[in-house]
Parts: sequence; C-alpha cells; structure tokens
Amino acid sequence: MTATLDRTHDAALRSWVASANDDATDFPLQNLPLGMFRRAGGRSDGGADAGAFGPGVALGDQIVDLRAATDAGLLPAALADAVAEVAAHGGWNPFLARGRALRQALREALSDALREGAPRRADWQATLVPQADAAQALPCKVGDYTDFYAGIHHATTIGGFFRPDNPLLPNYKWVPIGYHGRASSLGPSGQRFPRPNGQTRGPQDEAPAFGPCKRLDYELEVGAFVATGNPQGRPVPVAEAEDHLAGLVLLNDWSARDIQAWEYQPLGPFLSKSFASTLSPWLVTPEALAPFRAPWTRAEGDPQPLPYLDGAANRAGGAFDIRLDVLIQTEAMRAAGLPHQRLTRSNFRDAYWTFAQMLAHHSSNGCNLQPGDLFGSGTMSAPDPSQGGSLLEQSRNGKEPITLANGERRTFLEDGDSIVLRGRCERAGHRAIGFGDCEGRVLPAVD
Ligand code: MN
Repeated sequence: MTATLDRTHDAALRSWVASANDDATDFPLQNLPLGMFRRAGGRSDGGADAGAFGPGVALGDQIVDLRAATDAGLLPAALADAVAEVAAHGGWNPFLARGRALRQALREALSDALREGAPRRADWQATLVPQADAAQALPCKVGDYTDFYAGIHHATTIGGFFRPDNPLLPNYKWVPIGYHGRASSLGPSGQRFPRPNGQTRGPQDEAPAFGPCKRLDYELEVGAFVATGNPQGRPVPVAEAEDHLAGLVLLNDWSARDIQAWEYQPLGPFLSKSFASTLSPWLVTPEALAPFRAPWTRAEGDPQPLPYLDGAANRAGGAFDIRLDVLIQTEAMRAAGLPHQRLTRSNFRDAYWTFAQMLAHHSSNGCNLQPGDLFGSGTMSAPDPSQGGSLLEQSRNGKEPITLANGERRTFLEDGDSIVLRGRCERAGHRAIGFGDCEGRVLPAVD
C-alpha cells in the first residue's frame, strides 16, 4: 500500500460549507466519499418526480451534485465525461474501473473548489443538496457479493459454542474463508425488510418446521468494493491487490441463526443470509483512508501466510484503523423518544486477513473480479467477548439475554428493532472521518 498524503489530507483544511467543519461530522473536506442520490423533493421514498440517481459527494450535511457541477462547467472535461458515465450507468462502476488516478483527480478538484477562499463559490453553492432532502442508492451496481470470515474473535467465540476444545477449524489460519452471497437483496441504509421465514429444526425437534425465524441477528462488517477487475484466468498478486480496491463501506449482514444452523452443512450459508444486507451509502475511498492505515501482523505462534498471501506492503500498512460501533433502538425506545443505544464497539484493525489478501485469494484460482463487486469482511468482534459483533456472541448463543437501558431484554432481534452501524477513523494529527449511518429495521414476518 502506497498511502501517499497530499494537500487534500491537511488537517487544517476548512471548507466554506460550514457543516463540514463541525468536529462531529463524518464528512469533512478530507473525506469526500462517493455516493448515488436523487433529489427527493422532500420525499425520502423517492417517487415519480424524483428522477434518476446520479453521482454525488458528501460534505458535512450536504451533497455536492456532480451532475449539476458538470452542467455548470465546473469540472474539467475528463472528469465531466466520467461523471456522465456514472449517471448513465446508475453507479460508480465505470468511474472506479479506470483506477486510482481518476479518483485522485476528482478528489483534488473538489478539495480545491470547496475549501475556504476558493473561487467560484457561488457556482458551487448552487450544486449543493441537503442530505435530508435526498434519497440514496448503493454507490455501485453490485454484480457479485462475497462474504468473508476474517473476524477471528467472532470465529473463535462462535466455534467455541459448538466445539469448546477446538473452536477454530484447521483451515481458518491458512485460508481466508468465504462464501458467495446474494447481490439482489443488498440495500442502502434505511433498508426495511420482513423477518424471514424458513426451515428450522431445534435440538429437541423430531422434524424441521417452516415459519418465522426466531433467532434473527445482525453482523457488524466492513464492506469493500472492487475498482478494476481482472481477466478470467489471471490472478491478482497480493502486491497489486490494493490497486483493485475502490474503498470501504459498513455492512450489516443480517443473519437468521436458526435457519443457518439447520441448512449450513455441507455447503455453507444460503437462505439464512440472502434475505437482506444493509450498506452505508457513502463509499470512503482509499485516498481518504490513507492516514488511517495500520500494520498487519500475525500473532506469535500462528502460521505465517503462504507466499501468495504475503508481502511487505501488506505487512507494513494493509490493515485499516476504523472504530466500529453497533447501536440498537427498539420499538418501545422509539415510542418513548429514546435514541439508539450502543451494543458493541470493536476495531477493523483486528481483522485476521486484509482486504488485499482476500482479493488476492479470491482471484488466485483465476476467478475474474469485476468493477463494483462487493466483499464483506466477516463479523468484526473485539477480543473481549462482551463486545461481540453479533447478538449470537453477546447473548452467549441465546442463553444469556442482554438488558437494555430501558429494562428491555434481548437474546435476538425483535420486530421493530432498528440497528445502526457506525465507523470512525481518528488519529492524532489528522482530521477524523467517518462512514455515515448504516441503519436497517426488522418488520414483522409475511404470512
Ligand atoms: Mn457475515
């Protein structure tokens, strides 16, 4: 990873958009994440009058409308053409496919135009749309979605429920474990979905039954989008893998634990995962994340990775230092006007594999990755089991309910529960950035 810092990272940089200078914002001028939005005319549900989704960049509580900036002649021709391609495609895929230089050119153009004292402020001001007045789509059209299992603390705790003496299977420390997920049910923050129905069989049941999931869970994950793909049969070496990554989002991989327990052998998760997965809508680029890289290490006594998964750059800075939080708001909390309450805090730095290793492994058999493909990291739990990235861990496999501040108890999710994921990067000498909310809510099962 060549995490070069430049004038766009200067911690002293301020924007003439006042909300971007708020210490609490996830979207200061140093972030500039990429998203797809449309003006909703005050309607957050879109509608016939809302028009097509187009590219935007978050800044404070505003969105810079890149179509408007193009129409006003505010972007250089190469960027204007690329923005038009994104609008026509309905996602950032074609832009990201062209690699790092184009992303960097857009970042520099916006950083220079939106900083205090920049010329043409009035013209740029006219491109701003309040985030509160916009509806969002996913940043890319996702062709394929792969979910990994790089959270070793999660894997160890879950494995321990079933195999107390041998929680990790023999392959775990050698292979970045994953399964192919479902792209069609991915949705942006604000996703609402019914509790899934499915086939389950409890330990005391003679035969399985079909009905609403009773052990519905969240999973705290980080997602990565693929920028440039690779031709089929041509693996991406780990040393080049970072060049194929477009940036990160937050990902809630909702999971039906009782359906999963009955279906997962021998081929892995299927309907226990494919009913819904919620993503934060702003793609935080590798450029924005450059100040928040961390070394990747292997614990003493653990096997070192095979050569195709190892490299100096990956060890020096392949990890990301991102503080991750999960919050819950129940129906009763909402009715009482209570805000979301934190359930868990962990850090993406603790992942057992980096996204560069996951990408190199994914392509190592010749599998072709494509622009806009999505990877999930796997559930990111802290080393302390009380800070598990799922309720399965926090309730000790459903045996020990957790008690919320208002006295309600949870082993798994109830109808009406809203879960928010948050991610934040903070480091001395740098402006903190974040990912924005990744929120989703469980609705009652459909008959
Ligand atoms: Mn998962």
